[in-house]
Amino acid sequence: MTAIEVSDLSKTFQRGKRALNSVSLKIEEGEMVALIGASGSGKSTLLRHLSGLVNADKGPGRISILGKVMQQNGRIGKDARSMRSNIGVVFQQFNLVRRLTVLTNVLMGLLGAVPAWRGTLGLFTIDEKLKAMNALQRVGIVDQAGKRASNLSGGQQQRAAIARALTQGAKILLADEPIASLDPSSAKKVMKTLRRINEEDAITVLVSLHQVDYALDFCSRTIAMRDGEVVFDGPSKQLTPAFLKELYGDDSIDLISDKRRKAFKKKIAKESDLSLVAG
Ligand code: ADP
Ligand code: MG
Repeated sequence: MTAIEVSDLSKTFQRGKRALNSVSLKIEEGEMVALIGASGSGKSTLLRHLSGLVNADKGPGRISILGKVMQQNGRIGKDARSMRSNIGVVFQQFNLVRRLTVLTNVLMGLLGAVPAWRGTLGLFTIDEKLKAMNALQRVGIVDQAGKRASNLSGGQQQRAAIARALTQGAKILLADEPIASLDPSSAKKVMKTLRRINEEDAITVLVSLHQVDYALDFCSRTIAMRDGEVVFDGPSKQLTPAFLKELYGDDSIDLISDKRRKAFKKKIAKESDLSLVAG
C-alpha cells in the first residue's frame, strides 16, 4: 500500500510567504526516505502537514495516509484524529516530558489508544508496560527506563521518542531533523535505530536532515526541497556535491559536510589523474 501520498499541495502563510509550492510525492509502505533541503526550504512545514496538524491552502492539494484522505482542499478530514495514531513523530527539540520517567514518556505513546480516565490517572496495565519496556529494549536504552527524561543524553532522548512511536503502534514515523543537535556518534546511533525499526518492523520512515551525509549512508531514496518545491526525488547516490551544486547553487555548501566535500574532491582529482594516464 502507499503510505504517504501528497498531490499538488501548497501552503501560504500570512504575509504571503509560500512555504510549500505544489508539492507532490508518493512513499510506499516500508520505505525509508530522507528529506533534505536548506533551512527554510519547507521540510518542517511539509512534515507538519503529513502529521495532520496543519491544513494547506484551498485548492487541489490533497494528502492521503495509508490509502485514506487526511486532508484536501485545505480542510483536515474528519478521520484525521484516528489516522494520527498510525503516525509517530520525532522532533529536533527533544519532545519528552522532562520530569517524567523514560518509561512513562514511552507509555504516553498509548494515550491516544487508552480510555482518557486511565491515561490521566497514569494507570497502565502490565501488558502495556511490558510493551513499552520491549520498545526501550529495541532502541537500546532499556537500562534507562526508570530515569527522568531530563537525565538522558540528547541521543538517548531521541531513541526514547522512537520507542514511544513503537509503543504507539505507529506504521509511519516522521522525524524532523532528529539528529541536528547531536554529536556524530549519537547521530549515527539514532539513524541506526531508525533503520532498524524500518527494516524489522517495516515502519515507513521519512526523516528530514539538514545535511546530505546521513541521507547517503542510511536512505536509498532522497527527496530534496528548495523554496517550498521538490527539486529532486530519486536515488540518494545521485546526490553528488556536483549535482547538489546544480540543484542549490551556492547554498549547496550548507548541505554537504566538509568531510564529504573533501572526499569528493579527492575522488575527482584521482579520476582525472586516471583519465590522464588512460589518455
Ligand atoms: P525548514 O524546516 O526546511 O527549515 P520550514 O518549513 O520551517 O523550513 O519553513 C519554510 C518557510 O515557511 C520559511 O520561510 C519559514 O519562515 C516559513 N514558515 C514556517 N512556519 C511558519 C509560520 N507558522 N508562519 C509564517 N511563516 C512560516
Ligand atoms: Mg525545519
